[in-house]
Amino acid sequence: MLSQKKVLIVDDEKLNRDILIGLLKPLYTVMVAKNGTQTLKAATRSDTRPDLILLDIMMPGMNGFEVCRRLKEDEVTCNIPVIFVTAMGTTQDESKGLALGAVDYITKPISASIVQARVKTHLLLKHNSDLLRQMASVDALTGIANRRAYDTGLGHEWQRMQRNSESMAIIMMDLDFFKQYNDYYGHTEGDDCLQQVASVLAGVVQRAGDMVTRYGGEEFCALLPDTNQTGAEKLAENFRAAVEALQLPHVRSQVSSVVTISVGVAAAVPACPLSSPRDLQVMADTKLYQAKKEGRNRVVS
Ligand code: GH3
Ligand code: MG
Ligand code: MG
Repeated sequence: MLSQKKVLIVDDEKLNRDILIGLLKPLYTVMVAKNGTQTLKAATRSDTRPDLILLDIMMPGMNGFEVCRRLKEDEVTCNIPVIFVTAMGTTQDESKGLALGAVDYITKPISASIVQARVKTHLLLKHNSDLLRQMASVDALTGIANRRAYDTGLGHEWQRMQRNSESMAIIMMDLDFFKQYNDYYGHTEGDDCLQQVASVLAGVVQRAGDMVTRYGGEEFCALLPDTNQTGAEKLAENFRAAVEALQLPHVRSQVSSVVTISVGVAAAVPACPLSSPRDLQVMADTKLYQAKKEGRNRVVS
């Protein structure tokens, strides 16, 4: 498991790099950077982002303290653990490094077994915290994003769209007569149905920023940045049609012979005339309620 992990060794001196490479290469995927700029670049890119950084302090240009500070202030890189490996051995240096957010501080000359042990500990901790973070944002039944991820995403996108004066959309979806589905087919079949609906809904969206979430029991919600009313309406109809096309029998539905959803659409440029993401949410909810009242298996926008 840990052998897949990426460790980035940062040092301006080749000899120091070679020592650490010798210690860690048999155990992990090792990458190397010679200065701060290379480090920040590797950490920012998703394909080269390391699971742990061993960071020298004294380097020409940007020093290690500055590199660490920048890593910690960026949302994309702040979860990468940093261990300083340095000749600067005073208590003051060490407390400065730890105060900047490093998880550990190792002074040169290094001991092979101590470096290996500390690297292993921090890779394990990182692995577990990644897992927790991922679990906290994924719905256990369907595997798509959960309500918590949605709330966070909504706040972020609202601010981003406000800055860019772009329109964003929320599409609320709710299965029709799902209580009857459970009553007739049983709860296990109900769960199975929710899984199939979730995966078909997630397949409808194409853009990287789009998010389909399980909002509650049998309610799903799509969060769509850079999307206007017309675009959202098209997508909403695609969601509705995709669920219908699953052709999951529902003999107790009063609107169809198969499982269907009702859909409510709301789109707006943040702040005009709406003041908070909650308002957009309420608008989509109201439209969904209307879709239910008007007969179900339909989109109201
Ligand atoms: P409507 O068409 O008006 O939406 O009617 P409905 O029956 O779908 O709505 P209602 O809110 O009355 O019932 C929702 C049902 O969804 C209640 C519950 O049995 C079912 N449900 C909610 N969460 C889950 C779940 O995780 N698994 C299963 N199997 N059923 C769920
Ligand atoms: Mg329902
Ligand atoms: Mg409901």
